[in-house]
Amino acid sequence: MQVRELVSRIKKGDRTALAKGITLAENDPKGAAKLLAPMGSPGRAFVVGITGPPGTGKSSLVDRLIEAYRKDGLKVGVIAVDPSSPITGGALLGDRIRMSGHAADSHVFIRSMASRGWSGGLSRATSQVIRLMDAAGYDLVLLETVGIGQSDIEVVGVSHAVLVVLMPGLGDDIQVSKAGLMEIGDIYVVNKSDLEGADLMVVSLLSLFRGSPRSPPVLKVSALSGEGVEKLHDDIEKIRTPFTAGNTELRLKSIRGMIVETARGAAMEHLAGVSEVKAEGLARQVLAGKTTIEAAAARLSA
Ligand code: GDP
Repeated sequence: MQVRELVSRIKKGDRTALAKGITLAENDPKGAAKLLAPMGSPGRAFVVGITGPPGTGKSSLVDRLIEAYRKDGLKVGVIAVDPSSPITGGALLGDRIRMSGHAADSHVFIRSMASRGWSGGLSRATSQVIRLMDAAGYDLVLLETVGIGQSDIEVVGVSHAVLVVLMPGLGDDIQVSKAGLMEIGDIYVVNKSDLEGADLMVVSLLSLFRGSPRSPPVLKVSALSGEGVEKLHDDIEKIRTPFTAGNTELRLKSIRGMIVETARGAAMEHLAGVSEVKAEGLARQVLAGKTTIEAAAARLSA
């Protein structure tokens, strides 16, 4: 299919064309860039990053949020950045959400992206996928990722709002401060409030934020029973409403993240492609005293 035709079909909301565009973003960054160029700057899609340790109920919560936002009449895209390897098995996050029945809804588009095997370009690909969903008319993109490392923090850097999902009894405040999750959340969710220890978890989170300049909301939610989901939806809306009304601050934050991640991804992909072979020759030059490590590194990244 010609790029022009693909662009026009994606813009019309054609799901097959969108899926093709996403595959391009995953496999061929330059091809995806060609596709995105005529789409213009990011528009109306509001991106909610959802992160937290494994097993805290992120997928279950995404499921609830799809439900809530479909009731509002919004078109919802989901990107599940999945740490599980297709080889070792384990249900893919996206599959778990799909199984819930939303897959039959033509206004819900769910896509998994494996987080393994990327040489730094995961956030680049993720931001391209967000832009494709945006172009296809999705009002809301839920970006789910397992918050266990730096790359997850980079991935959610392109979001307009970040939910950090925790649960009672996982070592309480330690799970937040250790994983670098303290700085990134706009809303903190203590999920599994039907289990013991949720109140304690809320108290310890609130005390973590005491004395810090930020005081993000800390909510008790049960994705299982649905309790607290409405309040969560309301709190997301408090961030989304000014965005929809044209406030540029959040748009700039997300675009900034996309620029940085695209540049970082391109640099890493470039390095992964050339370093091994080129470095060999440069190493010999350094050994012979003909150049320095710094100069060699600069040549490698040029
Ligand atoms: P993820 O790994 O963070 O995406 O977590 P999942 O959504 O897959 O949930 C992990 C497990 O916790 C599953 O067995 C869910 O059924 C369960 N779970 C999710 N939300 C709740 C909840 O609110 N209460 C309880 N008791 N279990 C939950």
